[in-house]
This record gives sequence, structure tokens and C-alpha cells, in this order.
Amino acid sequence: MTQQILVLDEGTTSTRAMLFAADGALIDSAQQELTQIYPAPGRVEHDPREIWHRTLACAREMVEKAGGARNIAAIGITNQRETVVAWDKSTGEPLANALVWQDRRTADFCKRLREAGHEAEVQRATGLLLDPYFSATKMRWMVENEPAVAAAAKAGTLALGTVESWLVFKLTGGEFISDASNASRTLLLPLDAAGFDPGLCDLFGVPRQALAEVSDNAGNFGTSLPELFGAPIAITGLAGDQQSATIGQGCLSPGETKATYGTGAFILANKGQGIPVSANRLLGTVLYQIDGRRTFALEGSVFVAGSLVQWLRDSLGLLGTASETETLARSIPDSGGVVIVPALSGLGAPHWRPEARGVIAGLSFSTGRAQIARAALEAMAHQTDDLARAFAADGAKWTSLKIDGGMSANDWMAQDIANILDLPVERPEFVESTALGAAMLAGVGAGLYPSLEDASAAMRGGLDHFMPDMSAAERELRSAQWQKALSAA
Ligand code: ADP
Repeated sequence: MTQQILVLDEGTTSTRAMLFAADGALIDSAQQELTQIYPAPGRVEHDPREIWHRTLACAREMVEKAGGARNIAAIGITNQRETVVAWDKSTGEPLANALVWQDRRTADFCKRLREAGHEAEVQRATGLLLDPYFSATKMRWMVENEPAVAAAAKAGTLALGTVESWLVFKLTGGEFISDASNASRTLLLPLDAAGFDPGLCDLFGVPRQALAEVSDNAGNFGTSLPELFGAPIAITGLAGDQQSATIGQGCLSPGETKATYGTGAFILANKGQGIPVSANRLLGTVLYQIDGRRTFALEGSVFVAGSLVQWLRDSLGLLGTASETETLARSIPDSGGVVIVPALSGLGAPHWRPEARGVIAGLSFSTGRAQIARAALEAMAHQTDDLARAFAADGAKWTSLKIDGGMSANDWMAQDIANILDLPVERPEFVESTALGAAMLAGVGAGLYPSLEDASAAMRGGLDHFMPDMSAAERELRSAQWQKALSAA
């Protein structure tokens, strides 16, 4: 029983601890909500103490379930990316609330940097764009606006890190590292450099000495303090949530691609060892680093996926439950010409039009709930198809698509994605790919498996397959209707 793996899955709205068997079976899990702090429009914060205490409580529950720390071979951590925590290295205490990835307060600073012509060099080095989403401008904001953060910077005791960094520090009582997948979301790590770059730190106004050492994603990252769980447990796997899901889906060879359909949709394609370059405003990012060698990914995100279904349900009252969309879509032969472009908060990749707004086109007196629900699901396939074209143009043509996330439970949508992409779509029977990826990394780091390929073969379960089954004429008609509605968004 010493082969169990404890995964800490640190989401935006909740923290979870999940206990896995070495063969990838989920044994049990515990979950607690995280308080969302909204101090002003566009500002989103978390309390780092709460993150730590609730993570610890969930982890303790799972250690007890496992029959004690000695039955746990390793801890893996996966986390909401880009969110920044500031703490004091000498006391281990937070110095301010964490600034969450959704926080837009640094939009003006990003705009100034763009206007000063810095975006091309930053994109070339880091694979990212100048957007408040990423960590660096949040770090600068904290140093400039939080007196305790500024004081610690002056005293040389400041630590600025992403969430996995904060948890490793607390679990080990002082190890200060950031894994390469998380570090590659800060704007401070050149994709080809081992560590954070002094020049980028200067550009963004981040004190270099407050940053961690960049680590692998699997390896020995220290052990938890014995008093936390009754005995020390090795921390051996770390990854940002989207990278972890890509690994959990077994996308370990170049070209293999996964799409996670949750509130929004995140698509990552394995790009192998070559540094990804995008001419279509996709992001280049570290997928994982093992033994100092990096594998990269190209990433594109769609802002609105499941949140469209939520909006139909909660704001319009058109649905009782999210899953009702499937029954409604199946009840009619087509959407009757209705097309929804879900640009409710602008359009993300590959369009990048923040000013765009949503469209419902093709309404007639015969339009009912079913047509609207079907059009909402059809929009997912079209948004994915637009990204497929951008990935192909950037040299990462998909050969199949692996899907997961809460919305992927919708079989009708999964089939429609296969039809519109004209590609096989695979969905794992166990949809918690994010946690599974961290368990795989931890398994490799702990020496349970010699490589991620071995961990994947041993730990991943069965798949549901959706094969394309639509005439070219119908596909072309749907795409033409979508493009027309898109131009109105
Ligand atoms: P997140 O991790 O972003 O919070 P989840 O992966 O839990 O999201 O997915 C939940 C989203 O998926 C919700 O927005 C919900 O509306 C949508 N959803 C869940 N089940 C279905 C379904 N069967 N059909 C369509 N949408 C669904």
C-alpha cells in the first residue's frame, strides 16, 4: 500500500486532495471551496492563508484515508496558473492577498508596454503576449502598491511565486522553487533559458532576487514537514493545470492535442523539443521539463464554453440543467439556421477581439429552446475548428483531439466536434485528466515509473471514441453559416 499517490489539485474556485492508486485508479477525494475576493471591478484576489489551510485540511483527510503518511509514496501538485502569491521567506507568512489570473488591474501597464513596442521581443523570448493574465505585471503591482511587499523586497526577504511555489514552500518549510510549466506563464522565463531572466525582470519591474529557482516537473522537490501528516512525504510532481491535463490525456508525442471544455476551453498541442513560434497569436509554453530537457506546447484558449450553457440556464432560464442541452439538441434534425457566436466577453484565440460581442443569428418564429440549445453546442465545434486552423497554420496540425472537462460529458457535443473537425475525438472514461497528469508526474518523480510514457501506459484508463460522421456538404454549410455570424460579432 505504500504506492498510493496524493494529488493536490489547486483550482480557482476550490482546492482538492485526491488519492490515487499507482495504477491510476482514484481511491478517494476531499474538496473545499476557496473564497473569491472581488475588491473592485476587474479585480480578483484569493487569501493565501486560506489556500494553504484548506489544502492542508483536504490533504490530511486523504492521508487518514490512506492509513497514514507511510502508505503514500509521493505528492503531486497541480494548480491554477499565473496567480501570484507574495510572502516573507523568513517567516513563511503571506504579505498580501494573491492576485488571481483573472485580475485585469494591470491592463494599463500592459498597454503602455505594447505601445512602447515591447510585445514582439517578449513574445519571441517567452511565447506569451503582453496581457494582464500573466504573472509579471501582477508581481510589479504588488511591489508598487502593497507596503508590506515593498518592505520585504527592500529587506531581501520577499518571495514572489505562483501557487505551486507557495504550497511547496509551506509543505517543506522553506524550499523555494517554481516548476518550469508554471514559470513559463510569468513572462519572466525565456523558453530557452534555465531560469528567470534579469532583463525581463527589469522590463516588468520585478525584483529578480524575489523569484524562485526553476525546477523540473518530475523529481525530488523536498519532503513535507513530518508534523504535517505524521511522517514526511516526498513531493515529486508539479505542473500547471492545463499542462497537467495535457499529460494526463497522454499527449506525449508531437501533434497530440487535448481540449478541456469547462467554463472556457483550453487547447494545448504537444510541439516536442522545438521552441514553438506562433504567427497566429497562439501561446508558446513549457509542457514539461524532466532532467532539464523541455517539451513544449502551443496553446489557444476560448473564453466562453460551458459558461454559455450556464448563461442560457441561469440568465435566460431556457434550461433546467446543463445536460438538458443534449436532449434538446437530439430532439431536432438541425438548428433551423440558428447560429450562436458566444463572444459574451470578447473573442479569444485566434481572433483576439476583446471588443466583439455575442450574436444569435437566424431567428424565426419556428425557433424554440431546442434550436437555441443546439446552436449553443454547435458553437463549441466551430470555435474549436477556428483554433484547429490556427494551430495548423502554426505547423501543429491535429491528427485527433482528446477532450475532457465538465462539458465534455455531453456526447452530442463530442460527436459534433468530431464531425466539424473531420477528426477522431477521444474522451477518457476517467475525466479528471488534470489530477491524473500530476499523479503521473509524481509517479515518475518517485521512481514508480521510469518515464511519463510508462506512467501513461500504466495509469490511463479506457477511452470513448467519436468518429466523424457528417457529409462534406453539411460540414461546409455549417462552417459558412458560422463564418457569416462571426463577422457580425
Ligand atoms: P470549470 O473546471 O471551469 O469550473 P467544469 O469542467 O466543471 O468547469 O465544467 C462545468 C461547465 O460545463 C459548466 O459551465 C456547465 O455549464 C458545463 N456543462 C456541464 N455538463 C454539461 C453537459 N452535459 N452539457 C453541456 N454543458 C455542460
